[in-house]
Amino acid sequence: MKIHEYQAKEILDKGGIPVPKGVVATTSEEAAAAGSELGCSVVVKAQVHAGGRGKAGGIKLVASPEEAGAAASELIGSNLVTHQTGPEGVPIRSVLVEEALEVDRELYVGMVIDGSAGGVVVMASEAGGMDIEEVAEETPEKIVRIAIDPVLGLLPYQARKIAYSLNVATDQVRPVAAMMSKLYDLFLSHDCSLIEINPLVATKDGRLLAADAKLNFDDDAMFRHRDLAQLYDPEQEDPLEAEAGKFGVSYVRLDGDVGCMVNGAGLAMATMDVTFAAGTAPANFLDVGGGADDEKIAQALKIILSDGNVAKILINIFGGILRCDVVARGALIAAERAENGMPPMVVRMLGTNADEGRKLLEESSLNVTLVDDLNQAALAIKALG
Ligand code: GDP
Ligand code: MN
Repeated sequence: MKIHEYQAKEILDKGGIPVPKGVVATTSEEAAAAGSELGCSVVVKAQVHAGGRGKAGGIKLVASPEEAGAAASELIGSNLVTHQTGPEGVPIRSVLVEEALEVDRELYVGMVIDGSAGGVVVMASEAGGMDIEEVAEETPEKIVRIAIDPVLGLLPYQARKIAYSLNVATDQVRPVAAMMSKLYDLFLSHDCSLIEINPLVATKDGRLLAADAKLNFDDDAMFRHRDLAQLYDPEQEDPLEAEAGKFGVSYVRLDGDVGCMVNGAGLAMATMDVTFAAGTAPANFLDVGGGADDEKIAQALKIILSDGNVAKILINIFGGILRCDVVARGALIAAERAENGMPPMVVRMLGTNADEGRKLLEESSLNVTLVDDLNQAALAIKALG
């Protein structure tokens, strides 16, 4: 789950990590008032769940409260398109009005769960700022990576190593090392999947502040963070992904034309591979989960069909707790409700009540190709063109 920059900064502030003074505003009047309250040059920052705002015109440095108001009225209500959003962008509903910093250096600090390292990896670079992606691509040696042992935690020498790698002034080594420990504690206590401070600004007057902050949380841990769960902002998400979330269906929109409905995340990924093997591409990842009923199947198919790119459907079900006849009934309900009809379907069903499920589909008026294995599924998808 993602949150806004201003929310991430509140969390950092509580965790003892210095952030610039700032005020959130949802109107240009509020932004102007925030500007006068801060009483200095300010930056007006579009609050969206996407990075790359600076390059997309979402960050404006202004000299007066009037200019802050004007910048806010330009941003609020518009959509920001960055390299991390789709072409339609994401809506700006608020801005963060923040004291402008006199930047001496822009550093990068990040922490992420790394599956291959089996824990949190801390990343740091002297070359922070808006071009960090290029740095990672072209001069990866400029990014220091340290894997943290989950049992030992971030050790003091590792925190110091990060501080040295950032080449901070001698008197900043201790504060930076302390900041890294606090960040790591925060990462664990909030069940983060990612923390990114880019830039961590070293100011001309010798301060170090998190000028930008990104915090992502592990969705599966949200049940134990009621306060954080409230920060969920569905407007910033893909509307279909948000809809799927309401039904407890894992759905990720992709750009192919084969709508995939599968139970189990691993099988869902294998099914996407099958569509590629057929020379086509998946329109989505979808794991309908274990205990689905026919209504949930129908809702999952509705979400798949809401994507205008979908021209055919591949259903791949290994019936266990989820019975194949329930899936077939769900598909029939979805077909009845589908305004533009149901596109041709390739269906592989195995396991509990597979015969009954197949029979229901066979006897329906739907355009269904029943297959027994994934090879046949690929061929059948290919045959649909
Ligand atoms: P992002 O592009 O979405 O990552 O947004 P950031 O919050 O990182 O802002 C982009 C860039 O704006 C930063 O890398 C800085 O160069 C610049 N910036 C942000 N805040 C300030 C500030 O207070 N003062 C100055 N001079 N530049 C800033
Ligand atoms: Mn940034």
